Amino acid sequence: AESKNSFNVRSLKIEGVTDIIAVASGKGGVGKSTTAGLWVKCFNLAVSLANTCQLRVGLLDADVYGPSIPTMMKLHGKPEVSEGNKMIPIENHGVKCISMGSLVEKDAPIVWRGPMVMKALEQMTRGVEWGQLDILVVDMPPGTGDAQISMSQRLQLSGALIVSTPQDVALMDARRGVKMFSKVSVPILGLIENMSYFKCPHCSKPSYIFGKGGARKTADEMGLGFVGEIPLEEEIRSGSDEGVPVIPLEEEIRSGSDEGVPVVIS
Ligand code: ADP
Repeated sequence: AESKNSFNVRSLKIEGVTDIIAVASGKGGVGKSTTAGLWVKCFNLAVSLANTCQLRVGLLDADVYGPSIPTMMKLHGKPEVSEGNKMIPIENHGVKCISMGSLVEKDAPIVWRGPMVMKALEQMTRGVEWGQLDILVVDMPPGTGDAQISMSQRLQLSGALIVSTPQDVALMDARRGVKMFSKVSVPILGLIENMSYFKCPHCSKPSYIFGKGGARKTADEMGLGFVGEIPLEEEIRSGSDEGVPVIPLEEEIRSGSDEGVPVVIS
């Protein structure tokens, strides 16, 4: 029944939100949530540096199976409820966040069946007082199943960023992700490679632990933009554990624009 429902395109359009972009990966654990956080910070960085148009950014943790945004963005407590009976997002680092992780007990197992996922998503989108947002970044659950397809359709995404490590198993799932989004006509904004290499803190020599250049090659083969490489770094790990998202160094996010494929969201 769920698979029938999933193709029923009932839009979850959110009033006041201009663009919704998804950060997705086929495989879990590749750094999707970390990237969603980084991405949000990148935007903030760009904005504060450029000091031109102040972007208003929201972050929706739709990874209901393993919500890690409360930890990564250091969100405390539960969202308050407005007079209009809507959840008020918890704001930190200048970003309005909503996550299932803020609503459930920390150690409780989260067992979701398809229809429940869609119900939860409904609450986390239209049941939230987002206000006016330029961009709502959605941290998608990993995988390319019914729940993900339904979400992609209903959220009316402006585009999706795909995160992968350079490893073949991750890239294979990333390809599935790309195909899933194209099936529902969501443009792919680009492929980001996370955990590209480890830079030895002693001799600064990069080690390509998961293989070299895999995501760039996959992006080329699939005709997608390659956004750039994020190294495997102690600081990124500790930052996400402690809720202080690390802003990538300019050199780390430059490789994408060197290729002439800046990510444009319009
Ligand atoms: P996903 O959302 O794809 O499941 P996460 O973003 O939760 O993956 O990342 C998994 C773990 O790996 C997290 O604990 C995070 O801190 C760590 N991590 C992700 N990217 C990096 C990186 N570039 N360097 C170091 N640790 C990372």
